[in-house]
Amino acid sequence: MEQIAYVNGSFVPLSEAKVSILDRGFLFADGIYEVAAVLDGKLIDNASHLARLERSVGEIELALPETTARIQEIQQELVKRNNLANGMVYLEVTRGADTGRDFAFPKGDVKPTLIMFTSTKDIINAPSARTGIKVITVPDLRWARRDIKSVALLAQVLAKQAAAVAGAGEAWMIEDGKVTEGGSSSCFILTQDDVIVTRQNGSAILPGCTRKAVVALAEERQLRVEERAFSVEEALAAKEAFVTSASVFVQAVVSIDGKTVADGKPGPMTNRLREIYVEFAKATAV
Ligand code: PLP
Repeated sequence: MEQIAYVNGSFVPLSEAKVSILDRGFLFADGIYEVAAVLDGKLIDNASHLARLERSVGEIELALPETTARIQEIQQELVKRNNLANGMVYLEVTRGADTGRDFAFPKGDVKPTLIMFTSTKDIINAPSARTGIKVITVPDLRWARRDIKSVALLAQVLAKQAAAVAGAGEAWMIEDGKVTEGGSSSCFILTQDDVIVTRQNGSAILPGCTRKAVVALAEERQLRVEERAFSVEEALAAKEAFVTSASVFVQAVVSIDGKTVADGKPGPMTNRLREIYVEFAKATAV
């Protein structure tokens, strides 16, 4: 059965889901996106994703065409229509299609475009959850407002392509000698004295929803967390390294640029945080 997508108020077969070539998302990357995980047919940590969506659109003065409550209903309807058990819902909102290509915002009554589609992934049993992933490092070539979840992802496309060519699962982006974040993930290390370190939020990184939940869950358990930047050298000297995102949850990093982290296997803290996160995810799914 063909997958169903959502486009501006309609549920349509994926092959018929189309937007205009004048759409500002297409022409200028003038849009925002979100990805929420689905476990057992339910959305994971979706309130956090919708809060970030509202913040991102606010930062670019783009009004959502639907309330976040309605957006969640559409996400849930799409999951149902696709019979999706495990995977992700992608959603994107753009400043819509004007009558031409003007950089400044449309003056007339141009409605934002809202699209969604789903993909299947068994996040819990993904092989890389057991083995961990290799990462490579690349310079961070992105703009100065990475806290906005913009669809302008060319730097990440190139970073993740370089990772794919190198047989790695993620690219860690480096700026001023420090790790900013992964191409599509937040980066963590566990220091030799058992401190969980992840870069502080700010305009240099996207405030990851999974990052936020993992930090809160760790702190609730009296684990020591420090939010600060770290270097690749520090990561290579660490006990453990891992990444978080909606599409992998918590995933061990076992080597960086071909050098192993600790013994090159997922460590006990990474495994524990993964279990804690999965428990939280299931308990709060909607
Ligand atoms: N950082 C970047 C640049 C990302 O693209 C993503 C997710 O796509 C993340 C971090 C992780 O965010 P989240 O945990 O909300 O999926």
